[in-house]
This record gives sequence, structure tokens and C-alpha cells, in this order.
Amino acid sequence: MVDLEWGHELYCLGHLFQAAVARARTRPDAVDGLLAIACRAADLLCEVFGAEGIQSVCGHAEIEAGLAELARVTGEQRYLRQAELFVARRGTGTLPPIEWGQQYFQDDIPVRQAAVLRGHAVRANYLAAGAVDVAVDTGDDELLSALVTQWDNTVARRTYITGGQGSHHQDEAFGEDWVLPPDRAYSETCAGIASIMFSWRLLLARGDTRYGDLIERTLYNVVATSPSASGTAFYYANTLHQRSPGAVPDPNSASLRAESSLRAPWFEVSCCPPNVARTFASLDALVATADAHGVQIHQFASCGIQTRLDNGELITLDVQTDYPRSGSVRVTAERDAADPWTLSIRVPRWADGARLVVTGASGDVSTASVEPGWVTVRRVFQAGDVVELVLPMRPRLTHPDPRIDAVRGSVAVERGPEVYCLESIDLGVASHGTVTDVADVRVDATAPVEDHDGRPRVRLVAPVAEPGRELAWPYAERPLEPVPSASFDVPLIPYHDWAERGPSTMRVWLPLAAPPLDR
Ligand SMILES: [Zn+2]
Repeated sequence: MVDLEWGHELYCLGHLFQAAVARARTRPDAVDGLLAIACRAADLLCEVFGAEGIQSVCGHAEIEAGLAELARVTGEQRYLRQAELFVARRGTGTLPPIEWGQQYFQDDIPVRQAAVLRGHAVRANYLAAGAVDVAVDTGDDELLSALVTQWDNTVARRTYITGGQGSHHQDEAFGEDWVLPPDRAYSETCAGIASIMFSWRLLLARGDTRYGDLIERTLYNVVATSPSASGTAFYYANTLHQRSPGAVPDPNSASLRAESSLRAPWFEVSCCPPNVARTFASLDALVATADAHGVQIHQFASCGIQTRLDNGELITLDVQTDYPRSGSVRVTAERDAADPWTLSIRVPRWADGARLVVTGASGDVSTASVEPGWVTVRRVFQAGDVVELVLPMRPRLTHPDPRIDAVRGSVAVERGPEVYCLESIDLGVASHGTVTDVADVRVDATAPVEDHDGRPRVRLVAPVAEPGRELAWPYAERPLEPVPSASFDVPLIPYHDWAERGPSTMRVWLPLAAPPLDR
């Protein structure tokens, strides 16, 4: 234990503990001894880093959540107290200064005094997740509300439209407020997963649908973007604007973290691919929860849900949907209930115009408009009762806060939970090869964005510079507003599907063409 800042020893132990917890929760009959191994390591850890032990923390948070979860599974409160000690020590400057500052390790400000996530984006979110575990299990409301504030400020000012976090390449870290350049988005896959871990814990603690909203956004636009369709190559960093196609990665060597437009089979630092694997393996845990009053559905997937309420009522539900292809989510009760219970469904924040249709087993139907947030149905459910949430899946233009300088004057296209992007291969086809660079187009936002064969189409105008009059100096005394010579409609592609057709350039944010009257 001589290299706490870079050695990752406690970080690795934290992952070991989480693996043991997952094993114990999913296969309590397993006889492989993983839980016992984790407990022996945790016992040693409590000895070496306890109240009388080494007064420091690991440079990469993760042990905090691992210990807290191990305490939940084993009932051993010593592990929770050790997690509490690590959270309390963080931010007191026990790690040495480095060139990126102690905020890189979140060792600059005590967790309960911080107002926003900062420093290394994965470290920051893992620490926050573990700190929520500690706050909840020790009843520390002050710590919990500090973490809620950090989540609010981070989401409001330091998060990409994809849910991605971290805009610094050099230290894989958060930038300051509004520093969200699309072409320098680091948005590490692990940071997206860590953000889901943080949001999930706050969702369980507070029950607010905003957490489910961010989880959904991050799942569809960061976690789903990382692996190729074949599942054999991955993104480590998830840029929102690829300016050059890059080379095909060598399948027989480890790639650097953010070097190509294409997904790579393996990396020199290999955190992201296995993190994607464990997230996919535990996706079902994000779908629904239960409490004394009923069942809450947070994410939409075809599945069966079974739980027993405090009053002994056994609930079984069948969920059918092809979301996000369509916006229909049908929940069917499969058992007659003796008493009323409440079914709650998250209505995403973007879902303006959502409806709820309740069809009783006896044929009675009621329809209501529903607002983003929770929609609830409380009744004595009978087998065959159907609750259908109908979400509006039309494409929509999204404008950025003007303080995000890097994308001011641009728009993005979203449909349901998915962010879309323009890929050079579609640009070339739509313009018959006359425009092939995603840098040369602007979007005519006066034309409607419509679905064609399930893909939103936008009207683009090009080029930005007048043909034959490329400027030798890209600045002028008056705004450069060349009259476009071409106008054409281009289909966009879900961001998570980009670069599946070979090396390409891509952009999520499309610059707006000036309205005609302003020219
Ligand atoms: Zn990673």
C-alpha cells in the first residue's frame, strides 16, 4: 500500500467486493467462495485503513461503494463504518498534489461541502455513488442532500446531451461549468456507467423520476454507443463530433483510449469493455422497484415483473413494448389482487403529449393525458387489466443553453430517448456526392423534421463557404453569411449506431442556417 494515488489497489478490491455482492445476490447457493474471499480482504482492509490505521484514501474511488454493498449482503457493520471513514477522509488533502490539482482525486473539498462533481469523471461518480450508500445506510441526511445538490449542478451545467460526462482528454475530467465542446467530448464509457450508478442510488433514496430520466438518456446514448453491433469492439471515449474518419484499429493490438472514429477490440487501459458487460448483465435491476404500496416502473423493456408486497400480495406483471421504436408500453396484470395497490410509471421529461390508457379486464376503458413525472394507477387489479403508456415519438429539435459556447447557434435532433447524428456517408448519398464534409452544412430549421422509415430527416443547406471563394483568413469584419447553393434532405442515424458502416465523420450538433430574412 505505497502507491495510493495511482496503484488502484483499493479500487480493484472495490470491484472484487461488488462482484462478490452480485454473486451472492444472484446465486446465493454458489459454493465458489467468492464472498468469503471478499470478506477476508475487507477484514484486512478495515485493519490497515481503520480509525487507527493509514489515514488516507485510494486515488480512484470505488472501495466506498464496494464496502457499503458488502455490508448490506453480509450484515457486517464494520465494512459500512470503513466506507464512512473513507468518505469522511476524502477531500482533506491526504493524497499528494499533482499537476491537475487534487480535485482530480476529489481530494480538494470534503464530500459534504462540495457543490458539483469535478476532477476525473469516473472517480467523481464512483465516489458519489459510494457516498450515497453511506448516507442512506447511516441516516446521514446532510451528506445525502449535499450529493443531491452535486447531482443537480452537474446535470445542469456539466453534462452532454447524450448524458456523457467529462470534457477533458488530458485528465479524463469534468470541465468547468458550460465547458462541453462536442469535438473534444471525452465522455468516457465508464463515466456514463458511473453516472448511472450515482443516479440509481439517488433514485432509490429519493424516488424522483429525474434520476430515471438521466439513466435512460445515458443508457441509450453512452452505454449503448460503446459496443459495436457485433459486441466485439468498443468506444472508450464517446465524441459528439468526429472531424476526420481515422484509421481502422489493428484488431491484434491494444488501442489507445480515444484515437479513431472506429470502435476498438481492446485498450491499453481496459476498464470500459468489462464495465459495459457488467452493466448489460445487471440491466434488469434498473427496470422496476417495489415498495409497501406497489410497483414502480422506471425503464421500458419487455419483461415479466414479480414481487410480493408487505401485505403478502403477490404481484405478477407482463410488460410488452418495442420502445423506443414505438412509444407504446403495455403493462398487463396477471393475477387478481385482494386489495388495491399502486402501479407507478415514469413519464420521461421529453414526453410532451403522453397518454395513459387503462383497459379493465371487464372491458371498461379510460384515457387521460399525463405529464412528465410519475403517473399512477391505484386499483384492485384483476388479471387481464392493461395499463398502456403511449409516448409521443415524433422527432424534435433541441436547443442548447447559450452558455455552452461550443454549440451556441446549433441544434440537435432527438426522438424519444435517443439522440441522433449526421454521418458523412448519409450526407454524401443525399447530396449526390457534392457535399461530403459534415463541417460544410447547416440546418434549415424552418423545414419540419419528419420521420421517414423510422429515421428523422432534416433539411440541410450547403456549403458554408462560397465555392471558389475560400477565405485565406477565417475571420472578417462582418458575419460570414454565404448564400447556400444547395439544399437537400438527409436522414439522421441514432448516435449509438454511428460508425457501423466504416470510417466516417459525424456530428450531433448541427449549426443553424440564418433565417432568410436576416441574410
Ligand atoms: Zn473506462
